[in-house]
Amino acid sequence: MTRIAIVEGDGIGHEVIPVAQKVLTLLHPEYDFFPVEVGYGRWEHTGCPCADNDIAALKNADAVLFGAVTTPPMKDYQSVVLRIRKALDLFANLRPVRGDGFDIMIVRENTEGLYSGIEEIEQDRATTLRVVTRAGTERIARAALRCAHRRKGKLTIGHKANVLKSDVFFRDICEAEANKAGVVYNDKFIDALSLDILQHPEAYDVIVTTNIFGDILSDVSSYLVGGLGLVPSANIGDRHALFEPVHGSAPDIAGKNLANPVAALRSAAMLLDYLGDKEGAGQIEFAIGKVLASGIKTRDIGGSAGTLEFGNAVAGVLGKQD
Ligand code: NAD
Repeated sequence: MTRIAIVEGDGIGHEVIPVAQKVLTLLHPEYDFFPVEVGYGRWEHTGCPCADNDIAALKNADAVLFGAVTTPPMKDYQSVVLRIRKALDLFANLRPVRGDGFDIMIVRENTEGLYSGIEEIEQDRATTLRVVTRAGTERIARAALRCAHRRKGKLTIGHKANVLKSDVFFRDICEAEANKAGVVYNDKFIDALSLDILQHPEAYDVIVTTNIFGDILSDVSSYLVGGLGLVPSANIGDRHALFEPVHGSAPDIAGKNLANPVAALRSAAMLLDYLGDKEGAGQIEFAIGKVLASGIKTRDIGGSAGTLEFGNAVAGVLGKQD
């Protein structure tokens, strides 16, 4: 039996994930969905945001559907998301950004770089170590090149090699892998790339970059499609996979039925695609497109529908398909 771990997390995770789970259940009533509670809310009532047995439960699933967690900027609080990505070795974060005339896949290294977790706060100085390893770079470059092979076959390497030695290392390894794979590539400084992607999105196919740059670039690119409420992501490793919206827990709108569930629904579609159900993934995308075209939209993209109303409309379209 296919086992799906459901992590709502915090904030709007409690609103958008039930919508996505409902749609998955409609398409796959035979799946075994089981909840795993992690996040800031869990920390508030137990003192622990994520325990070893939660990690074990996530490892036991065939795939994880994840909402978002709140990470308070406190010295002693460890990010749950970073812990899970490392524990499940989800090294490739795929963030598709698609719109009229462009189709970009951002491939972000997900386990090292500036999010290495090696840091220290002293009295008058704070340090975070940016770790870029050969093995980590080779495997993310290869993941990006596999993506490029399945798509238009073009790779852009995003980096800041003019300033950071660790990015000279990253860029050179990516170039060597691209040469071996026979894939056409170019490279761009990440700051210039962040503007160019907004001005010329059609020029890009697959972009590979390091952890924090990929994180920022995907939020920037979400502007091209109407904002964070629309962009999904897949976190893929050799043995595990986790699917989550790019957005966070959005405390400013949480609990108000205002969250756009499209990013969570698209993450569910990516989950089905990963599990081999390309048709189901296509059905979800089709249903989202149909509902948006009918004028039912949440407030962030100019409509007035609530999270539940939008989710019910998508479920309604799927219910009518056979
Ligand atoms: P955010 O993505 O939560 O919100 C940024 C802005 O986008 C807010 O104005 C929010 O209302 C809006 N927004 C986000 N998702 C939306 C949706 N689905 N529909 C409509 N509007 C939406 O980012 P933030 O405010 O910087 O972070 C809030 C919390 O989320 C922080 O604690 C942060 O650490 C956490 N976070 C978690 C993840 C994750 O779990 N993977 C990712 C990013 C941020």
